[in-house]
Formats: sequence, structure tokens, C-alpha cells
Amino acid sequence: MRSIVVLLTKYSALVKAIFYKKRFFNALSTVVSYILKKDRFLALPLFVQIEPTNRCNLNCSLCITGLGKLRRPKRDMSFREFTQIIDQFEESIIYLVLYNLGEPLLNTQLYDMIKYAKKKKIFVRLSSNGYFTEKKHIKDIVNCGLDELIISLDCVSPQNYLKYKNSHSFYDVINNIELIIKERKGKHGPFINVQLLLIRDNEEDISQFRCLVRRLGVDKGLIKKPRVNFPGVIPDTSFLPLNSKYIRKSYKDFNRIRECIRPWISTVILSDGSVVPCCFDMQGEYNFGDTINLNFRQIWNSDRYILFRSQILTDSNHISLCQQCSVKDFFDNFVGRL
Ligand code: SF4
Repeated sequence: MRSIVVLLTKYSALVKAIFYKKRFFNALSTVVSYILKKDRFLALPLFVQIEPTNRCNLNCSLCITGLGKLRRPKRDMSFREFTQIIDQFEESIIYLVLYNLGEPLLNTQLYDMIKYAKKKKIFVRLSSNGYFTEKKHIKDIVNCGLDELIISLDCVSPQNYLKYKNSHSFYDVINNIELIIKERKGKHGPFINVQLLLIRDNEEDISQFRCLVRRLGVDKGLIKKPRVNFPGVIPDTSFLPLNSKYIRKSYKDFNRIRECIRPWISTVILSDGSVVPCCFDMQGEYNFGDTINLNFRQIWNSDRYILFRSQILTDSNHISLCQQCSVKDFFDNFVGRL
């Protein structure tokens, strides 16, 4: 019963976000622009991903921040910068993804950002590694109005956790999840989703993960295929599962060129305000402009963004960024959900 209420709350937040102000008409015009293959248009993105910080408190083996290979300076976005950005999307944004690289809970103004977005009826999803020692986060996460929380536990044993995340904090994270679930009792959200990353060392652990998801009482368990190719890093294939059905397809595996819809419906804003086409541009190499100092609509309709869209339509397999991408078949990135 509990999870039906949480699920209904999540979807009603999404419906409210779609029908707030002119967002529904903006969404329609975005879809029409994509269908008509227009590379310049008036509608703004429906999905916006904002990186509150690119700093992290763990060292995961398949993450360029964790590996120390992120070339962008370490930076937290300020609350003022965040509001300046969000205000530009007020009439378009339905879904805010409030994470990219880095651990969002390290930004001390994160909960103010979530509250601000919720005042504007935006659906907010956050992803955290769940590792923190300041217990005030428990109340804040549950009570700030957040709609969905993903916790990247990634492993189901402390041994694998140590090997993959280089940290002894497995049981601290489990304890934090238990405390969040306890704090949520009698409340309607957030929807809580715990994630397993299926690397070689835990590819046999799916049933163990299922038991853990049930025992914790979270709303969903998501099993993700790992990604090993990152810009500027030699791929560590030792983490790839042995079972080929758990390996992500790369762009080369698709015999038909599929057009990506992301440059029409979404955008990614890095912690310094730089606008990049999607979350695969981790180093910010396709920086279209700085949305803290420039109006986003100008950036969205700039020559460089337009050129990028037209390349996606005509020649996406020759865009170096897209060659690392597995989003061409988004659902293929997941093994399943529990
Ligand atoms: S990298 Fe992937 S998601 Fe990003 S624009 Fe290219 S095809 Fe789309």
C-alpha cells in the first residue's frame, strides 16, 4: 500500500509539472520541431540536467571524477546561479535531473535548490551515492520536496564495494538508506530507487540484490550495465561482465543510424554554467556557451547548437562525442528493474 501512494505521488508531480503555465504547449512544439527535423526553433528543452557540483567524496573505478581524470576545475554551483538558470526555463522545464558528475549532497545549497525548483512545480530527480556522515541529510532529503531519489549503491557486498568504490562505507550507506526509509514513514515521497551496477565481480549477485531491495523496503531496484569508455581514460575492460548480455551496445553495434532526440528535448548545464549537449560530454568539450552570463535561448539557437543538431540528423556516427554513446538504445543500458 505504501509504495502505491508513493508511486501515485510521483506521477501526480509529473502531471502537475507538464501542465504548469505554458509547458504543455512548449512540449508539443518541441516534438513537432523534432518530427519536422527543424534544427532551429522557439521551444525550450523539457528535460534539463544541472550539475550542482563536480566534486565527490568517493573514488568509483568507473567514473572520471572518481579516477581523478576530470579536467574541469572543481566547482559548486551557487544558489544564485541556479535560480538565474531555472528562471529561464520556467515555462518549458518539466523534469530536472539534479546531478551529473560529482556527489550533489556536497553542495551545501542543494536543498534550497530543490525547494526553489519545487515552488515552480518542476519534477526533481536526484542521484546520490548515499554516503554521508551528517545525519541532518536524512530529514532534508525526505522533507525538501524531492520527487525521486536514486541511490547508487552499485554493489551488494562490502568486499565488492571496497574493490569498486575504494571505500569501506558499504554499511554506512545501507544504514543511511534504512534511516531515509524510516524518516519517510507516513509521508508521500520521495520515490526511492536503489541502483546496482553489474560489473564482473557482482554479475552473479542479481538475486542477492533482489533480496536487499525487498529488505530495505525501497520502491525500485534498478540494475544498470557498466560503461567503461570515458573521454581521456584508457577503458578498463576488467570491470566488464563476462556474460555478453550484460554489456552495453556501442554505436558500432547498431546497423541502422538512429537519430538522437536529446539535442531537441534536453540540455545539460555543468557546475560553472556551461551548456553541453548531453551527459556524455563529461569534460565539457562541446561547450555551447555560459548560461549564467548569456541568455539560454540565445545559446539554444546559436550557430554551434544548430550545427550540432544538423550533424545529428545527417552524420551522427561521425561526431566523436556520439561515438562513445550508448543512448541510441536507451533501454539497452539496463538489465532490468525489480
Ligand atoms: S552522445 Fe549520445 S546522447 Fe549525446 S548527442 Fe550524441 S547520440 Fe545523443
